[in-house]
Amino acid sequence: MKLPMRGGCQCGAIRFEITERPLTLYCNHSEASQQETSSAFSMSLLVPREGFKFLKGGPTAFEIKKESTAKKPKMGLFCDKCGTRIANDTKGNPSLSVRASCLDDRAQLRPVGHIWVKSAQDWVVLHEDDLIYEEAPDDGYYALMERWAAQEHA
Ligand SMILES: [Zn+2]
Repeated sequence: MKLPMRGGCQCGAIRFEITERPLTLYCNHSEASQQETSSAFSMSLLVPREGFKFLKGGPTAFEIKKESTAKKPKMGLFCDKCGTRIANDTKGNPSLSVRASCLDDRAQLRPVGHIWVKSAQDWVVLHEDDLIYEEAPDDGYYALMERWAAQEHA
């Protein structure tokens, strides 16, 4: 995966850049993610805060209140012109959960796992080699990060 990576919202009002290697990429099948994306799941790219910056525009934020696992305040960052979700920002976390679907180059993206599979749409077919979690990982996403690093170096 080549750095920097750039992306933006659907209308172009917001552009961003990723300058540090992402920690992992996974699909989130939670009901909240389905609602957020108006789709079956979100693609979450964990990016160190220092490695993410806005190049153009800035997001509007709202507090996500319905996450069943949320212990810390979690903000959804979106474009107030077109509504595209850019990232989720959990207060105190060292990384942002960037919506990988916003990247300009999505061809190089290969998620290493799936979380909240218990609420996945029943037509979704998971790759048997992927890391699969019924709910949120209880290891601090360690295995997902390790698998991602191994894939990056393969
Ligand atoms: Zn926009």
